[in-house]
Amino acid sequence: MAVPKRKVSKARRDKRRSNNSKLTLPGMTKCPKCGEYNLSHRVCKACGTYAGKEIITIKEEA
Ligand SMILES: [Zn+2]
Repeated sequence: MAVPKRKVSKARRDKRRSNNSKLTLPGMTKCPKCGEYNLSHRVCKACGTYAGKEIITIKEEA
């Protein structure tokens, strides 16, 4: 709801902004295996697992 600027206190404004501007985008989850942030319902980019199973083998660079 839009409210005149001066009516919103600094504390209230900053509290709102701290809640809305989260570091991770919605739809991002932490991989249970490696802890990397990945898109939910997708194979983990970092370790290649999905639902506890290895789907793709990630080639490790030496
Ligand atoms: Zn992972």
